[in-house]
Amino acid sequence: MILDTATLRVAFAAMALVLALLFYFSTFRSTRSPYSAWWCAALLLFLSGSASFLLNGTPQQVWANPLGNFLLVSGAAGVWAGARSLRNLKHNLWLSTALPVIAGAAAGIDSPGSNTWAGGAVFLASMATLIGLASHELWRLEPGYSRVRIPMAIAAGGVAVFYFCRLVVFLIEGPNGPVFSTYFGSAVTTMVTMVLLVVVSFSMAGLSTEQQTRALRTVATQDGLTGLLNRGAFLEAAAQELERSKAANSGGSLILADLDHFKSVNDTFGHAAGDLALQAFANACSASARSTDVAGRYGGEEFILLLPGAGPKSAEIIAGEISRRLAEQHIPELLRMPTVSYGISTYNATTADLDEVIAAADVALYEAKSQGRNRTIRG
Ligand code: GH3
Ligand code: MG
Ligand code: MG
Repeated sequence: MILDTATLRVAFAAMALVLALLFYFSTFRSTRSPYSAWWCAALLLFLSGSASFLLNGTPQQVWANPLGNFLLVSGAAGVWAGARSLRNLKHNLWLSTALPVIAGAAAGIDSPGSNTWAGGAVFLASMATLIGLASHELWRLEPGYSRVRIPMAIAAGGVAVFYFCRLVVFLIEGPNGPVFSTYFGSAVTTMVTMVLLVVVSFSMAGLSTEQQTRALRTVATQDGLTGLLNRGAFLEAAAQELERSKAANSGGSLILADLDHFKSVNDTFGHAAGDLALQAFANACSASARSTDVAGRYGGEEFILLLPGAGPKSAEIIAGEISRRLAEQHIPELLRMPTVSYGISTYNATTADLDEVIAAADVALYEAKSQGRNRTIRG
C-alpha cells in the first residue's frame, strides 16, 4: 500500500484543525491556562505548516516550502513553551524564535523552488531539539503532579527520537535513499504525528481537569489569608486523625491559640498590619509543627493545632516555640508582635469525639486569658 503524502497532509490538517477547535472550546476557554493556549497555538502552527507543504510541486513552492519549515518548527517551539509553562518557567523567547527563523532561512537558501527537501537537515535537527526539550520538561514535572505527564513525555520523547533518526538517515543517504523514503519520509511522519497529537491533546485535556480539581480543592480547604487549613478542613482532618489514633490505641494533644488584645493591634496599627501579624503567626505555626501535625485557622485570630502522639508537655514546648518564632519576626508596620495565649487538652483512645477535646482546650484557653494572657495552660 502506498500512502500518498498529499492526502495524508490534508487529513492531518483537518485533524489538527478539529483538535485545535475542540481543545480551544473544551479546555482553553474554561481554564485559560498558558499551556492550553500554547497547545492551541502549536496545533494551528502544525496545521498551517503542513498545509504549506501542499503547495510543493506548484510554482508557489519557492516560498511555501521555507514558510512550512518555519511554521512547523514554530509549532514545536510552542510545544516546548507549553511544557515549560507547566513548570511555571518563563518562555525562552530567544531559542524558540531563533530555531524557526534559522529553519526557514536554511530552506530559503537551498533552492526551495525545485528542492522539496530544502533546508531538510536544519529542519529535522530543529524539530528534534525542540520536541526533545519539551519531553525533558515533561519528565521533570514533579512526580506527584499528574499521571498523564508520562504519556505526554513518552509521546514527545518518541517524536524527538523519531526526528533525530530521520536526521541521521537524511544526512547519510539523503531524502531519496531507500531507508529514508520507506521509514522516515513525509507520509510515515504525518501518520506518526497524527497519532501522537491525539495522545497529547487527550492527555492535556485530562491534565486541565486535574488542575482545576486541584485548584478547587485548595480553595475549598485553605484559609485565604494564612494558607493554613480552614476551620472545616481542619475539623475533617482532625476527626480522621482521632479515628486513626483510636484504632492504633494512641493519643495526642490539641492546642487552641488566641492572639492577645488583637482588637487593639488592629485599632493601633490598622487592619492590614493585623493581617500581617496573623500571617506571621501562621508561619510560626507551620515552622514549629511536625509533618504529622494538623494546623488550621479556627476563626478570626484563633488557631488550632492537633499534635498526634504528643503529650501535654511536648505540646507546651511547641506552643512556646510558636511564640518564640512569632516574636522573632519583624514587621515594619507593627511596633511589636502580639503575644499569644494557649489552651492545651489531650486525647487518647477512649476520647469520645473531637468536640470534647476542643471544648477542654477552650476552657484552658479561657483560663490562660483570665490569668493575664501570654501563657499556656494545660487542661
Ligand atoms: P483577647 O486577648 O481577649 O483575645 O482580646 P482580643 O482583642 O484579641 O479579642 P477580641 O475577640 O475582642 O477581638 C478579636 C479581634 O480580631 C477583633 C477582630 O477585628 C480581629 N480579627 C478577626 N479576624 C481578623 C482578620 O482576618 N484580620 C484582622 N486584621 N483582624 C481580625
Ligand atoms: Mg478570639
Ligand atoms: Mg484574641
